[in-house]
Amino acid sequence: MQPSLPSPHPTEHHRSQRSNWLRAAVLGVDDGLVSTSSLMIGVLAAHASYSTILTTGIAGLVAGALSMAAGEYVSVSSQRDAERTDIDIERRALQNNPKGELAELAAIYQQRGLSKDLSLEVARQLQARDAVGAHARDELGITVATHPNPLQAAIASAIAFAGGSFVPILATLLSKTGENAFVIVVATLIALAISGAIGASIGGGNRFVAGCRVLLGGGIAMAVTALIGHLIGTTL
Ligand SMILES: [Zn+2]
Repeated sequence: MQPSLPSPHPTEHHRSQRSNWLRAAVLGVDDGLVSTSSLMIGVLAAHASYSTILTTGIAGLVAGALSMAAGEYVSVSSQRDAERTDIDIERRALQNNPKGELAELAAIYQQRGLSKDLSLEVARQLQARDAVGAHARDELGITVATHPNPLQAAIASAIAFAGGSFVPILATLLSKTGENAFVIVVATLIALAISGAIGASIGGGNRFVAGCRVLLGGGIAMAVTALIGHLIGTTL
């Protein structure tokens, strides 16, 4: 009688599955936060009016979200195209030289530590069941079922960017005239610290260090833009 296998480990939480798109989302939010708040601080430092500051923020949100979406769509599409091309190459190789491909697959399992006979048997069974899938997964590291979806990635990064950009815009809408710079900076830094900590907890990193890192980066970006805005504002 076959010994019963223990049930899969119920408490193991693997992060890598969900971390890719979460990390992209956190980066998108950070991008939106830093670039839109810096834009607004820049024109504010150039003594722009309240409505100009707000318009700048909204224009930054729209422009940034659309360019993030376009960039993500193009990069994920080219990644998907490259994966599809690789899989087509595998499919043709399997048609033209099934024996050679079987040996190649067996060699991969042997390299991973299986005995020669067992490697060949595993390769034979997996190739019989789903040859393209086995080669894509174990030779190319591609999971056929989970091709990246360019449109989904584009929409996700646009939403993330817009979400980040909305923080300084909302802070400006809620603040009274004259307090804008202070409120934009404080709201952005708090949001950056939170997104940094979230990013760290996704990847299992140190939240405090990650929070400080994005705070520093965001703070420098706003300071430099404010300085340039001030210089331009006082000279023009
Ligand atoms: Zn192959």
